Amino acid sequence: MADTSGSSRIIAVEEAYGSVDWIKEINEVLADPGERAEQSYMSMITALPKLRSGLSDLDERLRVMDETGVSMHVLSLNAPGVQMHDPDRATELAAAYNDELAGMIAQHPTRLAGLGSVAPQQPKRAAAEIERIMGPLGLNGVIINSHTHGRYLDEPQFEPILASLEANDATLYLHPRVPSPQLAEPYMNYGMLAALWGFAAEAGVHAMRLIMSGVFDRFPRLRVVLGHAGEALPYWTYRLDNMYHRTWSFAGPVIGMRPLELAPSEYLRRNFGITTSGMDDPEVLGFCLDRIGEENVMFAIDYPYEDSAHAVKFLQDAPLTDRRRALVSSGNAERFFRIPAVG
Ligand code: MN
Repeated sequence: MADTSGSSRIIAVEEAYGSVDWIKEINEVLADPGERAEQSYMSMITALPKLRSGLSDLDERLRVMDETGVSMHVLSLNAPGVQMHDPDRATELAAAYNDELAGMIAQHPTRLAGLGSVAPQQPKRAAAEIERIMGPLGLNGVIINSHTHGRYLDEPQFEPILASLEANDATLYLHPRVPSPQLAEPYMNYGMLAALWGFAAEAGVHAMRLIMSGVFDRFPRLRVVLGHAGEALPYWTYRLDNMYHRTWSFAGPVIGMRPLELAPSEYLRRNFGITTSGMDDPEVLGFCLDRIGEENVMFAIDYPYEDSAHAVKFLQDAPLTDRRRALVSSGNAERFFRIPAVG
C-alpha cells in the first residue's frame, strides 16, 4: 500500500478517467465531420487498448497508484468531457457522470477525489450543477476542457458559470483540448494538434482571454488551475506586463485592450494555480515556484497519458526545500481542492 500519511502524501490532481460508456458516447459525437480536429486526436484513445483500460479500469488505476506511491488521484472526465454534445444531452450526461464519479470516490474516499463536469452549452444549468457538485455531491472542484464549440468563458453568456464558481468556492481546472475550429488549422500538420503544442496554445489563449478581459476584476475570488506548468504563461510574465503597460498608454483602447486593476502577471499569482502534469522538468518546476508562488504549484501526472513512476521520481528528486516539496506534493492540492489533510 502507498504511504498516505503526513509529509509523504502525494496527491496527483489532473488524472483522467472515462467509462466505457463515455468512450462510446464520445465516438458517436465525433462521427460528425465538422469535428475533424478533435476526431484525429480521440481516435488515438479508441485505437489503443492500454489507454482505454487506463481511463476506465479502476482496479488497474489503484494498482498503479500503489506500485508508484501515489496517495490520491483527483479524477476528471477525459477531455472534451461533455462539451461536444447537444446542449440538453450534455447537461444530462454531466449530471450522470458526476453521480458516477461521486460513487467511485465513496468507494475509495482516501484514494480518490474528483472534479465535476458541467456543460457550458447551457450556462444557467451548468451554474446549478456547480452548486450540486460542491454541495450534495461533495466533489472537489470543476473541470472545463477549454473552448465549447469555439466559445470561451470570458464571453458574456458564460457569466453565470463564473459567478457560480466564485459563489460556491469551486476551483476551476481549465484543462486543454484540441484548439477551437477557428484556431486549429495551422496545428493540424506534423502532429502538433494535441499534447505536443496545440493543447498548450488552446488552454493558454483561453487563460489569457480570462485575464485580459477583466474577468478577475469582476470575480476577484475566482480560482483557475492550469496544467502543464501553466501552459507556458509563467515563462511569458515579463512580456505580458511590459506589453500591457507600454501598449496601454498609446494604443490600448484602439486595439481593444481593457483597463485592468492589476498587471497580467499579478492575476496569475492571485487567481491561478498551476500543475506539473506532463512536465517532469525540475528546472521548470523551480522557475514556476519562484515566478507564480510556492503556494500555487501542484503535482499532477496526467494519468494514463504519462508514466506515474517517472512523475513521482521527478517530484522526489527535484531540488526543493522540504516546505516546497510538501506544498507541491499535497499541501497546495488540499487547499485548492478542499481535500482533508491527513496525519
Ligand atoms: Mn490531462
